[in-house]
Amino acid sequence: MEPLYLYNKELQKIPKRIIITTHQKPDGDAMGSSLGLYHFLVALGHDVTVVSPTNWAKFLDFLPGIDKVIDFEKQVEEVKQLLQVADVLFCLDCNHFNRTKTLESVLSSSTCIKLLIDHHTEPNLESFNYGICTPGKSSTAEIVYEYIASSPWHHLLNQTIATCLYTGLLTDTQSFRLNTTKTSSHQMAAHLLALGTDPATIYNKLFNNFLETRLRFIGNALLNRLEVCYELNTAYMAIPFEDILKYEIKTGDTESLVNYLMTIEGIKFGALVIDRQEERKWSFRSTGNFNVSIFAREHFEGGGHVNAAGGRSKESLPIALRKFKEIIYQYKNQLV
Ligand code: 5GP
Ligand code: MN
Repeated sequence: MEPLYLYNKELQKIPKRIIITTHQKPDGDAMGSSLGLYHFLVALGHDVTVVSPTNWAKFLDFLPGIDKVIDFEKQVEEVKQLLQVADVLFCLDCNHFNRTKTLESVLSSSTCIKLLIDHHTEPNLESFNYGICTPGKSSTAEIVYEYIASSPWHHLLNQTIATCLYTGLLTDTQSFRLNTTKTSSHQMAAHLLALGTDPATIYNKLFNNFLETRLRFIGNALLNRLEVCYELNTAYMAIPFEDILKYEIKTGDTESLVNYLMTIEGIKFGALVIDRQEERKWSFRSTGNFNVSIFAREHFEGGGHVNAAGGRSKESLPIALRKFKEIIYQYKNQLV
C-alpha cells in the first residue's frame, strides 16, 4: 500500500465514480468520517456514493447526506452495479473487508483502485493500492480531517464537513475522555467549531436521543447480567437474546454498555457479549497495557485497538462465556 497523498494528482484529474464504504453496523466515526469525506469529494467534482454494509443506528440520522447512503443489505443489486463501474473505492474505519459482512466478496472482486483511511491495528495491506493507516489516532475522522487540511483543497472544509467529522471525533474519543485524545484532536475540534459546528446539538442528537426501553434494558443488564471477577480485575456481562427481544433493542442501543464495566474501581478488563442470534458479538475494553486487540484476535476472530476491540463467537452464549472465563486466567500476570 502506497501513501494516500501519492493518489492526490489522480484525484485532481477528470471526475471519478467513487464509492465510500465502512464497517458493518457503522458507528459515529465510521459514518461521520465517510460522510465528511463524501462532502469533500463531491465539492471536488466527483460522483460519490456512500455504501453501508448494513443498517445503522437511528441517532446518526441527523448527519448531513445520510439520506443518500445506501444500505447494501437492502439494495444488493444496485451496489453490485455501482461497484462494477466504479473507478475508486475508499474504505474508511475498516481495514479488512471481512468487517463488511456480505459485502466482503463484492469488494474483494472489484477491480477498481482501492484506498484505505483507518486507525485500527493490523490492516490488510494487500487489499489496498493507497492509504493512510495510523493506529493510535483518536478516530478515522481525525485522519480524514488531517488529509483534507493538508491537501491543496483545504479551503473546501466547511460547516457540513465539520459536523460529520466532529461526530466521528466525539464518538470515538468517548467525548474526549480516552487517552487517544491528543493536542491534535483538540486543535481539530477548535477548527471545526470555528467552521460552525454546534457541539451541544451534536451531543444531544448522539447521546440524549433514545427510547425508554433502552434505559430499562441497561438497568436490567447492570442488575442481572453483570459478573465481576475481582481476582483478575475483570468485569463481564452476557446478554441473552431474550433481553434483546424483551426491550426491543435496535442497532446502536447497546453501543456504550461495555463502558459501564470500566467504571468499577480497579477493573482493568471489561467484556460484553451479546447474543445477536446469527452470532455472539463481543466488545472488549481495557485500561493500561492490556491489549484487547490481540486478545480479540487470538480468541474471538476480532481486533480493533489496544484498549477497545471487538470479536465474535459462533458457539452458543453459555459456551462462548465459559470459554472466556477459562481463557482469562492465562492473562493473570497482565491483569493483576
Ligand atoms: P465495539 O466494542 O465498540 O463494537 O468496537 C470497539 C472497537 O473494535 C472499534 O474500533 C471497532 O471498530 C473494533 N471492532 C469491533 N468488532 C471488531 C471485529 O470483529 N474485528 C475487528 N478487527 N475490529 C472490531
Ligand atoms: Mn473509528
